[in-house]
Amino acid sequence: MRIDQAIATEIRDSRGTPTIEVTLRSGDLSVRASSPAGKSTGRKEAHEKRDADGKGVSDAIRGLREVVFPRLEGERFAFPNDIDKLLLELDGTEDKSHLGSNATLAVSIAGTKLGAALSGLPLWKFIGAHSGATPGLPRLYMNVLNGGAHARFGMPFQEYIIVAGGDSLAHSYEAATRAFWKLGDVVKREAGEVPLGDEGGYAPASDDFELPFRVIKEVIEGDRDLSIAIDAAATEMYHDGRYKVGRDTCDREHLMGLYESIVRKFGVMSIEDPFAEDDIEGFQVMTRTLGKEILVVGDDLTTTNAKIVSGMADLRAANAMIVKPNQIGTLMEVYRAAGIAKTAGWELIASHRSGETEDAFIADLSVGLGCYGIKAGAPTQKERVAKYDRLVEIEKEFLY
Ligand code: PEP
Ligand code: MG
Repeated sequence: MRIDQAIATEIRDSRGTPTIEVTLRSGDLSVRASSPAGKSTGRKEAHEKRDADGKGVSDAIRGLREVVFPRLEGERFAFPNDIDKLLLELDGTEDKSHLGSNATLAVSIAGTKLGAALSGLPLWKFIGAHSGATPGLPRLYMNVLNGGAHARFGMPFQEYIIVAGGDSLAHSYEAATRAFWKLGDVVKREAGEVPLGDEGGYAPASDDFELPFRVIKEVIEGDRDLSIAIDAAATEMYHDGRYKVGRDTCDREHLMGLYESIVRKFGVMSIEDPFAEDDIEGFQVMTRTLGKEILVVGDDLTTTNAKIVSGMADLRAANAMIVKPNQIGTLMEVYRAAGIAKTAGWELIASHRSGETEDAFIADLSVGLGCYGIKAGAPTQKERVAKYDRLVEIEKEFLY
């Protein structure tokens, strides 16, 4: 593929914070891609480049215009991976601190979109072919109650999620959305009017540890295709070797007991970041004791980094992991990390970030990599809905 023109512009994410959008042009074809941004980020994530004010992306955009685009425009690339290799070479650091993972990722995704458009393949199919994965349709992980760092710690865990499986993605989307609306009434009954959190879910403040599980159970009761998952995002709860759960603090053993109780009582089937990124032993104990029944999912633990995933797989610290492209900064590296996880027998869950754009790329990524699930938030923000809408479209391409 030949790149005629590359453009970088500043757009705003779902929190109104600046982020980067890249446009690539080849002949009459034009594709766009943008980078999301996390809030409860893992320490080992690649470096997101921000201006001195901690918000702006002018320096990152300047880097693209001065360093990267002169090496893209007028050039031909056989595969999108060749663009990613060039990005790694031009960045030249271990953690993308020169160009910024927010800058490299927008280029990397745009490169893959251009490759797919030129080849005439649907994006998810192109991703399958170039990553070596077998495509498949994911379950929906719809985050319906927001707590932790996404909602001023009104509830101890960051995400309380309805998982929708079953035969059809369109049907899963409909069922999860209806359960979400019903949940709105139940939350109002239990907690009155509540705000929405960063990912568009209801954000009640409650000291009742079981309340979020009770209200979700009430609205999914009777539908065998719906179940409960959480993202504890426990790195955010960890201070001086103890975990803050609501008003109390506890040790690892006590927290483990709480997880066992919600698995038994509410059928919670997937727990992400149950312990802090540095509490690897916590993850190991969890995987040993509950790993046959539920998914123990690494996020801050693994940061979509092949080297780290490989180490955690050797330590048997999880049996699943989150795939977030901006944690590492190029798709070539995402595919490498995903491949290592799959070889270790782990499930994959593709994920948005709490600061999102309307780019639906992760929908295609989740299908192309054959992910077990996709986390895309609540259907109250266009940035989240864009992913679900694209998944429903992909399902038609996939089946017919
Ligand atoms: C997460 O922790 O899984 C998440 C999506 O949050 P953030 O983007 O803030 O890291
Ligand atoms: Mg997480």
